[in-house]
Amino acid sequence: MKAQYHREITIQALSHSFGPAALQTIIAANLGQDALRYQFGHDHFHFDNNSFAAGNAYIQKLRQTVWDALERNEARLAHENFGRLTHTVQDLYAHSNYISLWRQHNPAAAPQEIDPIIPWLLQNPLLQSGKLYYPLEALSFIPFLKPFVVPLLPRDSHAWMNIDEPACQNFEFAFAAALKRSVSEYFAIIEKLPPRQKALFAGINMT
Ligand SMILES: [Zn+2]
Repeated sequence: MKAQYHREITIQALSHSFGPAALQTIIAANLGQDALRYQFGHDHFHFDNNSFAAGNAYIQKLRQTVWDALERNEARLAHENFGRLTHTVQDLYAHSNYISLWRQHNPAAAPQEIDPIIPWLLQNPLLQSGKLYYPLEALSFIPFLKPFVVPLLPRDSHAWMNIDEPACQNFEFAFAAALKRSVSEYFAIIEKLPPRQKALFAGINMT
């Protein structure tokens, strides 16, 4: 997902649940996951290269770090780790064929009807994510070269499979799924929190 859409999704999903400072920390941590140093050797941050097991384990680890940080009153650390988590869950729908598998079973459905956490789809052997065929793939990220490079890459490449921007087919579905999943991750975190930690996580009383 392009930075602009990670930002929009995160704001739409969470602006009613967090104070402004907390929301900014969450957004910054979300966008930080796409730093150049995390584009190589960090497939699980973005669900690239079929890293479903590692991606899901990473999400679970981040949830735990949020709970642990709040237990220690470290609200900022909790927000940073939750921001990282939102990035990874949002990329799942932009980088895999979850959307196209769901649409095969719901051909007439609108984007807003998508369910992003259907277990049999998330565990389906047909679920795949785009492979990064470096070095050629890197050239597909340069807009001027993209039209020349993409036809040379296999159909299971990131270049062919990604739903990162509105020009991609199914973008509205990927956006809606990422938005709903971000909200559900928020609720998965707060349902285990005592009231005082809930307030801390929401960024109430933060300066
Ligand atoms: Zn990413």
